[in-house]
Amino acid sequence: MPAPRTPPDTPSPVVPTVDYHKDGVQHGHLRLPYSRDESAWGSVMIPISVVRNGEGPTALLTGANHGDEYEGPIALFGLAMTLRAEDISGRVIIVPAMNYPAFRAAARTSPIDKGNLNRAFPGRPDGTVTEKIADYFQRALLPMADLALDIHAGGKTLDFLPLAAAHVLPDKALGARCAAAMEAFNAPYSMTMLEIDAAGMYDTAAENMGKVFVSTELGGGGTATAHSVAIAKKGVRNVLIHIGILKGPPVVEPSVRLDMPSADCFTFAEHDGLLEPAVDLGAAVRRGDLLARIWPSDRTGAPAFDYRAAMDGLLAARHFPGRVGSGDCLAVVAVRVD
Ligand code: CA
Repeated sequence: MPAPRTPPDTPSPVVPTVDYHKDGVQHGHLRLPYSRDESAWGSVMIPISVVRNGEGPTALLTGANHGDEYEGPIALFGLAMTLRAEDISGRVIIVPAMNYPAFRAAARTSPIDKGNLNRAFPGRPDGTVTEKIADYFQRALLPMADLALDIHAGGKTLDFLPLAAAHVLPDKALGARCAAAMEAFNAPYSMTMLEIDAAGMYDTAAENMGKVFVSTELGGGGTATAHSVAIAKKGVRNVLIHIGILKGPPVVEPSVRLDMPSADCFTFAEHDGLLEPAVDLGAAVRRGDLLARIWPSDRTGAPAFDYRAAMDGLLAARHFPGRVGSGDCLAVVAVRVD
C-alpha cells in the first residue's frame, strides 16, 4: 500500500541551532528528532557551520552524502575551522557529513533505516530519518543556495580518477553555469557525467531548482589520500572564488576533460568471483581491450570470464574490492575530450 500523501505545508522536524541570517562564524547542529530505545526523546545531531558576512551569494558545501567517502568531510571540517567571516562576502553553509548516521557508521547508507541519502530526494518531513534529512535540504537549505558543491568519492566499493562532475541539463544556460563551476573546482579530471539512475539524487533536486551544482568523485576505496584531500581543499577554495564569496586568485592546474557519451561507458559484472584488473585507472583503452577478468573462485581448472571495453577511452572508475559479484559496476570508461 503506498504511503499516504504528506500535506505540502508539513513542517520539517529538523531544528537548526544556527541562525542562517546572522553575520559571523557559527558552529552548531541540525537537530533531527530520533526517538529510539537508547534515547526516548533523542536526536541525530548533524554538524553544521554558517559563515556569513553581509549580502552576497550563498554556497552550500556538503560531504558524506554517502557515509564512506572522506575527502568531503576532511576538507569541510577543516574549512569550518579556518574560514573567517572577514574573508568572505555573502554566506557559506558547511555540512561536512550530510548523512551523519551513515558517516558515523562508515557506511554508504544509514544504519538507522538503510537510507541512501542520494536516492532519497525530495524526502519527506514525516518519513524515515534519511528522508527527513533529504526534506530539510530540499526545502530549507537548497532554496538559500546559489551554488551547491557535493563532494563525493567512490566509497568502499568503487575507485575513481579524481574528477569534478557536471551533468548535461535540459536548461542549457544552467548546464553551462554548472560546467563553469566544475571547471573552477579544477580537479585533475573534469567529467560531463551520465547517471545510471538520476531519480532521487541530491544533484537532480538542486538542478531542478535551478541551482548551480557541482559534484565530485575524488578517489574511493573507503578512505582518502593526501593527494585526494589536497584536490578537495583546493577545489572548495576555487569554487568559493568562482562564485565571488572569496577573493582570488584561484589555483589552476591542468585538467583533462572527460565525457560519458552513452551507457556503453558502464561495464557490469555478470559473474561472482575474484577480480583480476587488466588495466588501472587512467589507462587508455580501445574498444575490445580487456578491462578485467573474473575468476570463479570455488574451483581450480575453470577459466576466467573476460570483460572488454565497449568503446575507446580511458578507465575512469573501477570496482574496488578484490571480490566482485554479479550486478556490480566493474568499470567505467570515459572519453577524453581534446
Ligand atoms: Ca558517492
